Amino acid sequence: MRINLSGILKDFGREETIEYETYFDEIEWEGEKLKFKEPVKVKAVFTNTKDDIIVSSEVNTVLNVKCHRCLKEFPYEMSIQFEEEIKKSINSAGFDKDVFYLDEDNTIEFDDVVKMHIVLNLPMRFICDVGCKGLCSKCGQNLNIISCTCKEDVFDERLAVLKNFYEKDKEV
Ligand SMILES: [Zn+2]
Ligand SMILES: [Zn+2]
Repeated sequence: MRINLSGILKDFGREETIEYETYFDEIEWEGEKLKFKEPVKVKAVFTNTKDDIIVSSEVNTVLNVKCHRCLKEFPYEMSIQFEEEIKKSINSAGFDKDVFYLDEDNTIEFDDVVKMHIVLNLPMRFICDVGCKGLCSKCGQNLNIISCTCKEDVFDERLAVLKNFYEKDKEV
């Protein structure tokens, strides 16, 4: 949502609280596209300080993600809080792509700020449950649902190697 902050720019110390709900289709994360399952609820308090506008925000949403271990899709709830600076104008230091600026009409597309902070708060890996057993590396079955016998095969393979070793020994 584009937010107009002209109202608080008149005096230092002025605050404005804005709450809204928006819907993001997807977000880029680690080369993947994550889909949103629920709308994004945003609450933001903007404060006019001398140099910048400081915004303190709370964001809640639910994403559809895939478990890193078992590949099952599951809802990932996010509830984040962050603070961000919004520069009133490009100062003598010049434009910095990592900084948010007010546009000439004193507005900011706050969704861009929200999206950035959602991405910053995502985990390295999504796991559906701490106890998720994942997929069997041999047969690919979901070990949360079924228990395969592949582990015994691994053991058998080791025995086979040992057997070959002894057989080679005999040949010499
Ligand atoms: Zn899982
Ligand atoms: Zn298996």
